[in-house]
Amino acid sequence: MGLFEEMEKLDYEQIVLMQDEETGLKGITVIHNTTLGPALGGTRYWSYNTEEEAIADAMRLARGMTYKNAASGLSLGGGKTVIMKDPDNPVSEEALFRAFGRFVEGLNGRYITAADVGTHSQIMDYIYQETSYVVGTTLKPGTSGNPSPATAHGVYVGMKAAAKRAFGSDSLEGKRVLLEGVGSVGLSLAEKLIKEGATVIATDIYDDPKQKAKELGCEVVDSEEFLNNKADIYAPCALGATINDESIEKLKEAGVKVVAGSANNQLAEDKHGDILENEDIVYAPDYILNAGGVIQVADEFNGGYNEERNKKQVENIYNQIEKVFEIADRDNIATHDAADRFSEERIEAIQKTKRIFNQSNKSVLR
Ligand code: NAD
Repeated sequence: MGLFEEMEKLDYEQIVLMQDEETGLKGITVIHNTTLGPALGGTRYWSYNTEEEAIADAMRLARGMTYKNAASGLSLGGGKTVIMKDPDNPVSEEALFRAFGRFVEGLNGRYITAADVGTHSQIMDYIYQETSYVVGTTLKPGTSGNPSPATAHGVYVGMKAAAKRAFGSDSLEGKRVLLEGVGSVGLSLAEKLIKEGATVIATDIYDDPKQKAKELGCEVVDSEEFLNNKADIYAPCALGATINDESIEKLKEAGVKVVAGSANNQLAEDKHGDILENEDIVYAPDYILNAGGVIQVADEFNGGYNEERNKKQVENIYNQIEKVFEIADRDNIATHDAADRFSEERIEAIQKTKRIFNQSNKSVLR
């Protein structure tokens, strides 16, 4: 399939290819949809086997941001950047990312970037030397800092909403939670769960996070035996695609009734969302649950980040998840499909307001 055909199929607005031989920059910024506002999405710095693979990844991630930002109630569209890392040719990260920042500035606010896999606040600081269309720098007044605690808080409130659907009460007291991955988000989530009186059975592939989880009061188990433990809730907070044919069988045997975690792309395939639904396991869709981080960085545009205001916005994830459940019931569909419909309905509704003339549509009056 040709690139334009691909763009047309899922309604992409723009793909920007950037190269700069001097700095080694080879990047792709994809702007999927700007109905709700400028496209916000992180910059991934990663090594790819082929250019096609990098473009496909950027396209997939940009569209994901359209849905996540829409579902979070943000006035932001979806976009993403992939910068191809060449492991054989180390480059100056400052020069590379400042060159990229100059391209971002050239987009004149259609795209706002942030940290993602392979980038961090120091890199955002380099980008900020060249453009203000970046969030998560340490330099900008009103910056918001590490988004992981906000992500964990969003997962926590969303898990409560899912528990209400499954158990009739949103209290997590006495519930047994299988927590996979006790990194930045997982540890912070564990702390909240334990505080509420839940039992957390945690696993990780490394000893250091396991040790930290143990100190917090989690029961720590090895990855191999993790899903053999009886539990009410499964919280995937490590990698994606952990919900698959094999794990669903184990979740059923474990007695799990809720899946709610921070990992992106938790369903190995869409059909696994349907299987969870058929098995009466409540799936809280990943991109709605883990939006706390993006809600936090977006708050930088409200005159600078404000912790209290942001907490309220993150806690709204509880209501957003409930609305998704309402759509699932209304249309008799699984919750992962309902999440997409929820986002699409908001975009369509806002699109309709654009028929009302104002000075932003003034081309003929120039
Ligand atoms: P992290 O790297 O700090 O933590 C991930 C943890 O998972 C690590 O301790 C790692 O050792 C562990 N892990 C990796 N593979 C594992 C496996 N197979 N089994 C068990 N443990 C394993 O990352 P994070 O920032 O805590 O993010 C966790 C997940 O949430 C990721 O999927 C991330 O994409 C997603 N997410 C994070 C944020 C955020 O604000 N940090 C926002 C949205 C989504």
